[in-house]
This record gives sequence, C-alpha cells and structure tokens, in this order.
Amino acid sequence: MESLIYDTAIIGSGPAGFTAAIYTCRSRLKTLLFECFVPPSQVAVADFIENYPGFPEGIEGFQLLDRLKRQAQNFGLELHASRVDNIALESGDRGDIWRVKTEDKIYYSLTVILAVGARHRQLGVEGEDKFRGKGVSYCAVCDGAFFKDKEIVVIGGGNSAVSEALYLTRFAKKVRLIHRRNRLRAVAALAQKAEGNRRIELVLDSVVTQIYGKETVQGVRVRNVVSGQESHLSCCGVFISVGYTPNTNFLGGLVKMDDSGYIVVDQAMRASKPGIFACGDCRSNSLRQIIAACGDGAVAGSSAVDYVDHIKGQAYE
Ligand SMILES: Cc1cc2nc3c(=O)[nH]c(=O)nc-3n(C[C@H](O)[C@H](O)[C@H](O)COP(=O)(O)OP(=O)(O)OC[C@H]3O[C@@H](n4cnc5c(N)ncnc54)[C@H](O)[C@@H]3O)c2cc1C
Repeated sequence: MESLIYDTAIIGSGPAGFTAAIYTCRSRLKTLLFECFVPPSQVAVADFIENYPGFPEGIEGFQLLDRLKRQAQNFGLELHASRVDNIALESGDRGDIWRVKTEDKIYYSLTVILAVGARHRQLGVEGEDKFRGKGVSYCAVCDGAFFKDKEIVVIGGGNSAVSEALYLTRFAKKVRLIHRRNRLRAVAALAQKAEGNRRIELVLDSVVTQIYGKETVQGVRVRNVVSGQESHLSCCGVFISVGYTPNTNFLGGLVKMDDSGYIVVDQAMRASKPGIFACGDCRSNSLRQIIAACGDGAVAGSSAVDYVDHIKGQAYE
C-alpha cells in the first residue's frame, strides 16, 4: 500500500513550530507536527512571560504554549509524540519526497519545517557532570523548589540567567549571580530588577572554576578575572545559564549551518535544500525570543504553502 504523503512535516513543538502549523493548516496543507519533550520547548521552562504582545498582565510560559498548540489543532493539525532521528530525500515515481524517521516510524512529506530550538550549553568545569541532578541544574522552573531557604548561585549574565535568578528568589534565601563581565548583558528592565532585589547579590568579573561537594554540591570555586584572586562560595545549588546550542546535530550535513550549528536561511526561511525551511531559535541570527520564533514560524509556514502549491500546480500566479 502506498504510504501517505503529508504536505508538510513540522519538527518541534515550540512557538515556532506551532505558529508554522497555524499558517499551513489554515491554508489546508496536510500537516503533521512532531512533538518532543526532551529537550523541552524553552517556553515550557520560562516561568512567566511579560514581553509577548497582547498579554498586558503577562502569561505563564506553559500556558502560552498550550494556547498555541490548541489554536493549531483547531485548524486540523495532526500531532505525533516522538523525536525525529533522521531526514533524507527520496527520489522516485512520486517525485522528490522527504523521508522523516522517528524513534518508531517513518513518514513522508513534500516539505519539512525545522523548528527544533536550542538547548542550554554546558559550562565545562570540574564537578558539573558529577553533581548534575545533585545540586547542578539548568532549569530554575524545574528544580528551584528544591532549594527553599538555601543559598544558591546562578552562572551567567544574559536575559535567561537573570530571569532564572529572579525566579529563584521565590525559594532561595540568597542567590549569587556570577557573571564574567563587569555588568550584566540582560536587557535593562531585567538587569534593574536583579540589581534591586535584596536576595540577589551580583558577583561580577568572575568565573566559576570548580563545583565541589560530597554527595551533593557544597560550594563553588570562583576566580576574579581582573585580580586573578580565587575564593570559595558555599552553596547547595548551582544553576547554569551560559548560552545555548542548537538542536541540529541529528541533521548531519543535510542543510547549510553556521559555525555554531544554527541553520542558515534566507528571508523566506528557506534552508539550503528545496522544500526544507527553518524557523525560531534553531536558525542563524535569530533574536531567540518567543515573538521572533512566532514571526519566523509564520514566514516558514507561508513559504511551505507557496512551495507545495507550486508542486501541485495550484500556485496563484
Ligand atoms: C529560562 C528562559 C526564560 C525565557 N524567557 C523568555 C521571555 O520572557 N520572553 C521571550 O520572548 N523569550 C523567552 N525565552 C526564550 C524563548 O523561550 C525561546 O526563544 C523560544 O522558546 C524559541 O522557540 P522555538 O520554537 O524556536 O524553540 P523551542 O521553544 O525551544 O522549541 C523547540 C522544540 O523542538 C523540539 N525538538 C528538538 N529536537 C527535536 C527532534 N529531533 N525531534 C522532534 N522535536 C525536537 C523540542 O522538544 C522543543 O519542543 C526564555 C528562555 C528561557 C530558557
């Protein structure tokens, strides 16, 4: 029996993927979205979103994600809960079709929209692997509650690190925010919140060189990058937020990527192979914000519609 061919297969269940689905499904493209929870969509771990337009009181990350998903499903989106392991081109009687292989099945599609996001980067210091899950965490929303009335450190100085530090003040007695530069990189509104929070202490010009303990974390060794002086900070939690790396390894050399592994796209979100599009945090030069991921998703979805219409001879010239 000839297997079903989807018009578009969307890989990634974050704001970019669901928005792309809203656009393809509304244009009646037969759309399948692969939903994967490990690594999670970053919105799912983002606690509270206060800069997404249209929500003047803000909205919790998982609620926003749920709304996007339901909106796409209302237009007929099909979901398959599985990670995608491989994508390859099959040429034959049916023309050029993308073969999408998941953990348990194979699907075929005329187009593929990559919306796979990015995940936290590792710090790469002694003790990080040893104490992962024993005090070392990369997700404040997931693990913050374990540190009620404790002293913890957050490593990083960007938007995510400062958001994590602010969130952790709900639980921790004291949060030390350790950043290698002499001022935070986060936007002014967030940086000022952190500076004005009495539970947060900024430790600037400093890097963590070791995480130590016995069964669980007991402290970190810190080096001041200006004076070279070493010190110890006792803590039982270490939250690492030092940047991101795209979830694009599984693609191998399928499409062109930049030096950091982000997918190179043009203004229409077209990747370097016909029929493949990329959007959101996984694409090169993304703003890495929800609004940008949604905007990319809308463009990628619309471009996929144009592409499919051309193949089927339905393009509106
Ligand atoms: C702590 C924190 C706070 C943040 N706060 C804000 C904020 O206040 N405002 C804001 O605008 N942005 C914020 N962000 C950034 C925002 O969450 C991201 O920009 C946004 O989630 C990117 O959307 P995306 O769809 O590109 O990727 P993601 O939301 O990360 O979704 C990617 C999806 O792809 C899936 N996936 C990956 N690989 C595969 C595979 N092989 N097969 C199938 N599925 C796969 C993942 O499981 C995930 O579901 C925050 C991020 C963090 C970490």
